[in-house]
Amino acid sequence: DPTLDVAAVRKDFPILARRVHDKPLVYLDNAATSQTPRQVIETLDHYYRHYNANIHRGLHTLADEATAAYEQAREVVRGFMGAAERREIVFTRGTTEAINLVANSWGRTHLKPGDEVLVSQLEHHSNIVPWQLLAEQLGFRIRMIPVDERGALDMAAYRDLFNERTRLVAVNHISNAFGTINPVREMAAIAHEHGALILVDGAQAIPHEPVDVQSIDADFYAFSGHKVYGPTGVGVLYGKAALLEAMPPWQGGGEMIKTVSFDAGTTYADIPHKFEAGTPPIANVIALGRALEWVTDVGIARIGAWEQQLLSHANGRLADIDGLRILGTAPHKAGVISFVVEGAHAQDIGLLIDQLGVAIRTGNHCAQPLLHHFGVEATCRASFAAYNTQEEVDTFVEALQRVVAMVR
Ligand code: PMP
Repeated sequence: DPTLDVAAVRKDFPILARRVHDKPLVYLDNAATSQTPRQVIETLDHYYRHYNANIHRGLHTLADEATAAYEQAREVVRGFMGAAERREIVFTRGTTEAINLVANSWGRTHLKPGDEVLVSQLEHHSNIVPWQLLAEQLGFRIRMIPVDERGALDMAAYRDLFNERTRLVAVNHISNAFGTINPVREMAAIAHEHGALILVDGAQAIPHEPVDVQSIDADFYAFSGHKVYGPTGVGVLYGKAALLEAMPPWQGGGEMIKTVSFDAGTTYADIPHKFEAGTPPIANVIALGRALEWVTDVGIARIGAWEQQLLSHANGRLADIDGLRILGTAPHKAGVISFVVEGAHAQDIGLLIDQLGVAIRTGNHCAQPLLHHFGVEATCRASFAAYNTQEEVDTFVEALQRVVAMVR
């Protein structure tokens, strides 16, 4: 059966039973953080009750069990994103840390004054600021890939930006602010034609559509656990093995070395451990593996298709609200609706709709350059996940109608 059994999915999420301001919770802030199924909560609970121990330095039963579960999660991630090898999967604290790793390790060794890095106008601050910090120190140039009026990347402009100094493209797979799905496979091919690498921020893609890093031919691909039904505090950097092998460590500490000596210097562990200094978020890594298994059991394609249904239902209903403008109308969009309403501040809408039990996001969505380009400081954003229903979309739209009537 191709359709998602949303009633069954909802049963896995204990939080969906809670009430907010004495109303049933309607959670539509999934692009910020998704809710957590009981299978993931139970995995965390089981870890702390039964085999909590540090990894890789074991020689006792608990340490061996924790190490095995941690490395098994790496295998799950590998399979989920279609990586060729397990050692291409580096665990980080999240997308932000994964991008900072690439900037500080690959960027610091490869980017020279006069070099150019292409960063899209759709980026989350976490894929802009690390490049700016580094550019201040190294003197390379950041050039922006512009969006068109629908919030889709201007591919002609993208092609035109390349020259012999272009080293890297940094782009998200799906925009958190507008939901635009970027043609990252085509963008990777163009980057490679020009001898540049591509880093894809997949924070918003991994939870919503099947991702295969090899078919995209991404050089780096990053995502966060907490947006894909997993815990906070864990994320992933995929990197092609040859690139990771050639990169210097970024953080130093335990777990990432082969030998340490004051006299003879220090040698580093093989990838991926070279990039996992210190005690990693062991429980969260193991629970992230469980979250991806949960997604696979439900079916990532099925989840994406369901969210598309919710998106078109919401688009239809929102068209009835006078003065509502949706920002981001690209033909390929994920289940994210960013909007402003004439005569009503986004902040006021967010606060008042919360009183009706509906959780949406208001603000700049960590994408100030994009919002400023569209002439706004803030939007309201509703974003969907596997457990949302058409009835919830209706509740949201009706609540929005009430709120807009109040503030106008
Ligand atoms: N990139 C995108 C597209 C995102 O949506 C987010 C989170 N909003 C991030 C990066 C940053 O993720 P994290 O805060 O988990 O590091």
